[in-house]
Amino acid sequence: MIPVKENQLSHHRHIVSVAVALPVHDTFCYSIPEPLAPHACPGKRVLVPFGRRTVTGYLVGPAEEPTDKIDPMEIKHILDVLDDTPLFPETMIPFFQWIAAYYMHPLGQVIHTALPAGLNLADIAVLTIGGAGAEAVATPHPSPLEKIVLSALAKRPAGIKQLQKEIGQPVSWALIHQLRQRGWIQVDRQIKARQIRPKTVRWVTVKQTAPASERFSVQRKIIRNLLETKGDLSVPELKTRVPTAPALVRAMQKAGQVTVYEKTVYRDPFGDPIEPDIPPRLTAEQAEAVSAMAPLLGQGFKTVLLAGVTGSGKTEVYLRLTQAALDKGLRVLVLVPEIALISQIERRYRARFGETVAILHSGLSQGERYDQWIRIANADATIAIGARSCIFAPFGDVGLIIVDEEHDASYKQEGGLSYNARDLAVVRARHHNALTILGSATPSVQSWYNVSVGKYATARLTRRINRQPLPAIQIVDLSQSRDDRGIRRYITAPLQQAIKKTLDDGNQALIFLNRRGFSAFVICGHCGQPLRCKNCDISLTLHKRANAFRCHYCGFSKAAVSTCPSCGSDKIRLLGVGTEKIQEAMTHLFPEARVARMDRDTMTRKGSIVNLLKDLKHRRIDILVGTQMVAKGHDFPGITLVGVVCADLTLNFPDFRAGERTFQLLAQVAGRAGRGDRPGRVILQTYNPNHFSILAAKDQDFKAFFDQEIGFRKALGYPPFSRMIAVRISGKDSKQAAAHARALGENCRKLLTADGPYCGRIQVMGPIEAPLSRIAKHHRWQILVKSQHTAMLHRFAYELILDHRAAPAGRQVKVTVDVDPFFLM
Ligand code: ADP
Ligand code: ZN
Ligand code: ZN
Repeated sequence: MIPVKENQLSHHRHIVSVAVALPVHDTFCYSIPEPLAPHACPGKRVLVPFGRRTVTGYLVGPAEEPTDKIDPMEIKHILDVLDDTPLFPETMIPFFQWIAAYYMHPLGQVIHTALPAGLNLADIAVLTIGGAGAEAVATPHPSPLEKIVLSALAKRPAGIKQLQKEIGQPVSWALIHQLRQRGWIQVDRQIKARQIRPKTVRWVTVKQTAPASERFSVQRKIIRNLLETKGDLSVPELKTRVPTAPALVRAMQKAGQVTVYEKTVYRDPFGDPIEPDIPPRLTAEQAEAVSAMAPLLGQGFKTVLLAGVTGSGKTEVYLRLTQAALDKGLRVLVLVPEIALISQIERRYRARFGETVAILHSGLSQGERYDQWIRIANADATIAIGARSCIFAPFGDVGLIIVDEEHDASYKQEGGLSYNARDLAVVRARHHNALTILGSATPSVQSWYNVSVGKYATARLTRRINRQPLPAIQIVDLSQSRDDRGIRRYITAPLQQAIKKTLDDGNQALIFLNRRGFSAFVICGHCGQPLRCKNCDISLTLHKRANAFRCHYCGFSKAAVSTCPSCGSDKIRLLGVGTEKIQEAMTHLFPEARVARMDRDTMTRKGSIVNLLKDLKHRRIDILVGTQMVAKGHDFPGITLVGVVCADLTLNFPDFRAGERTFQLLAQVAGRAGRGDRPGRVILQTYNPNHFSILAAKDQDFKAFFDQEIGFRKALGYPPFSRMIAVRISGKDSKQAAAHARALGENCRKLLTADGPYCGRIQVMGPIEAPLSRIAKHHRWQILVKSQHTAMLHRFAYELILDHRAAPAGRQVKVTVDVDPFFLM
């Protein structure tokens, strides 16, 4: 799979460094017993003794310490080598090591996170005896165990677990590898998941030699004509002109008038075949961007921020640069936000580059993902496209990394290894001396700051492809309708009129509200008690269709009641709106319209998003109501109106990025309007019509937003003027969690003593109760550590956490570290 010299470690006297997949921060030295030596190489999994246990680890290279310092009596042996080929290229190990150090996460667990599930050879290998093996059984060469194994396999092929059961004793992978090397057995990977068969379509060539006959039916003449003028065509294509084409082609084939051949086609996420596309002529702006960036390929590490308004054709720029990279023999990694899995990028890449594209994302089955991973590792694919975990795609070398919608929050992994794939793209590019392109219509404050200080270069696309102006945005002040009753508080007259006009014109409307459910709060009108989740410190939301009160943080759900659990009053009041209520209002106000909803409640079944988008594309939906799921990436020419019901929901979060997120979300959702040849319009309702985040979103003007925001960040010393590490403490027992948070806070103060290195360089905020102080029965505290000195910040955090380990809190309290935290709730 990956070319490695099998015994390249032998000159290190068989002592290697192993990262175990356990929460320990060091790597460990092991020696390789002679028989395993040919199989042990970096990138493979090994079985090692660890304390009194036997654990899996990853072989990451020769021992770090000089081998003459290692006492040969002390060192333990590797017990087995678990893979026949490396799972990742050796060149990725420094990248993994960087991640481990920066995100303060054990190396073995970093590697474990990077590898997709289903790579475990033990689960999928099928052992079959080879011809030479059958002969060998009869000779005295094999050892007794080998003989037993061979005779068992001679009866029937088996997986290793099955084999062990059959012969009643353990079989090591080392033995399997040996038998395989001698050619006695064969090891095949069998993927249990369903195999995707490539889809093929029939293509038709006209036989020039066949005489045109006057006796041809009109239809046959049309087909012949088409083929003669246009060249080969597919049967589905012919069918669009002549409905009976499939049958006619068969008849014509029989009569020797045409020949038919099969061609593999790729399917888009809608299940439709993807025809190869013809690159369009670039606009002047696109051409300029491409010719500015293409020469940077293969010229060393560099990052360019491609800032282009929504609909300006960024994807076409990515495609051209990808082509330029391939022309130079470079490999390409393309990251897209989670929601864009179903967007057009994958389709467009397939249409342009066909078989050289590998796709990695959570929508694939284990078997499919395994196949894609191996194609990348084998370099069968030259382009890998995927969501955030695709940053770990096992290319030995990468020349271009593209991050689409670089501002998107879905690049941040929460929990476990908390990494940011956008940031890792730049890090990986540095390791490979590659070019990174970060694209967005609403670049993050962090990235634009890097442009402003000269760390990143920039390229701009300022106009939409269709030459349409950006949609006209009308701001509606919601406080004017505060006294209106019922739904008119939220669907104001201007919005209602705009929807009506859109429908009258035969266009589609997108109504956005970033809250699902029917009501936002449930409150008792008598005693004033809100109904709260029993696990969280959060009020419940009514979901009318499900007739349930639900918690949006832990998923707790209970049957909707009509009386207050505290006082028994029946004056239950539903405050605020969610998408469910907006959908109901739309159905009520526009009874003729076909209304659909897209949020996490309606999109639970696999394929439901795809079906809904398909309906939208084919104009089977007139009004789409949705949460931020509708905001990103989609390109639907029929949508001419975007209505934002309430722009303020994210604005008041106690998080320093609240303004940035609001700006990005609004500018992106507004960008969904007017992407076809009809101009778009946006109605943006808000209680804060003069807030700069909202005004900047109105003009999709990220520069205006940045110029204001950066002042606040600077004044308060927030990123990008500093870096932060969040230490999170959580536990079921409120007293224990609080006590532990305070103890860690005390440690911080000790480390900050006046004459120490951290004094005046590190700022500690907290411990405080997290803004969401209880989620899923866990009480949450946080300490934010902030500094302008990255290295010092890390040293401080390491000391703090290691100190804490000296006085562990027991299993009741969990401490996690989030470097460059994104959500401070
Ligand atoms: P963005 O990602 O910047 O929002 P897209 O890449 O989705 O924009 O492009 C918007 C639309 O314009 C797409 O339908 C795309 O196919 C089309 N397009 C892009 N470049 C060109 C071009 N040079 N000529 C014609 N159409 C183009
Ligand atoms: Zn009450
Ligand atoms: Zn809850």
